[in-house]
Amino acid sequence: MDERRRLNDEPGRLAALRRAGILDTPPEEPFERITELVRSVLGVPIATVSLVDEERQWLKSSVGLTITETPRDLSFCTHTIKTREPLIVPDARLDTRFRDFPYVIGEPGVRSYLGLPLETPDGYNLGALCAIDTVPRDFTTTEAAIMKNFSRLVMNELELRQIAMSDSLTGAMTRRGWMEAVETQIARCRRNGQASSIVLLDVDHFKRINDGHGHAAGDRILRGVAQACFANLRDADLFARIGGEEFAIFLPMTDAAHAAALAERLREQISLTPYDLDGAAVRITASFGITQVRADVEGVEAGLKIADAMLYRAKLDGRNVCRVA
Ligand code: GH3
Ligand code: MG
Ligand code: MG
Repeated sequence: MDERRRLNDEPGRLAALRRAGILDTPPEEPFERITELVRSVLGVPIATVSLVDEERQWLKSSVGLTITETPRDLSFCTHTIKTREPLIVPDARLDTRFRDFPYVIGEPGVRSYLGLPLETPDGYNLGALCAIDTVPRDFTTTEAAIMKNFSRLVMNELELRQIAMSDSLTGAMTRRGWMEAVETQIARCRRNGQASSIVLLDVDHFKRINDGHGHAAGDRILRGVAQACFANLRDADLFARIGGEEFAIFLPMTDAAHAAALAERLREQISLTPYDLDGAAVRITASFGITQVRADVEGVEAGLKIADAMLYRAKLDGRNVCRVA
């Protein structure tokens, strides 16, 4: 996809933001340090790391402000993310886009703004790093260049965070990262009245592979199973290795029937894929537990527990099957 299209690919951008797993997480030191640097180096009273979500701007870090989010249509950053360039607003009261914003008219009296898009390696602008002043101000090209470097630091930190949350063998998320990200997504789906589902899968008789062909062969199969899952997921789905040979998929905007259809497709693909182990073509199978995240059930822990009970039933029913709550 070319650069321009990516700037206009809002669903892709939002999916990248979800995958970053950063929304609604607590303050973290590296981001605090960067906003503090912006404030002291540029001599501004306010600095933020802002992420532009579907209908709001959410602040991962902010100094000089007490709010943590604003509606999206009342944000400078929603304009910043439309380009690859810095957005400079010397006087917000003279700018028809911004002069009626409550925080321009009232407290804290925002007058000038310098925002740099926070761009992922594949070209999505997740939000902006912002320097904000309460007096009119012509930010210089030097200041914009400094901010560009700081914005790269933000993206490096974001990437490091993601690496720390991904499993080195398979590239899937870790259990911890997945639980955090899914918790946020469940709350979001509930707010929007959308269904979401969890698919849990466990490789059948995996111990026999390790015992018969060695641990390295087992690792190859785990990578193969993860690849089969990756190949069948949409951008917004969240996929993790949550135990030794156990994987979990969170499917936003998906009811139990569609989740079961995906699981069935995966089950079949996995059972039909041969692995060359010690010269023999070895096939494996997996069992699946599926549940829609019910409106009356709170959170990811509870959802996972139900999926796990269904997985247990699949094992009892002879393995290589899907069971839906
Ligand atoms: P079931 O059909 O009931 O799931 O049987 P199983 O043998 O798959 O289940 P069990 O829990 O008895 O064994 C899981 C095995 O997975 C045991 C453990 O040594 C192996 N395992 C866990 N993590 C890894 C890993 O990272 N690599 C490899 N190769 N094996 C692993
Ligand atoms: Mg198993
Ligand atoms: Mg297991």
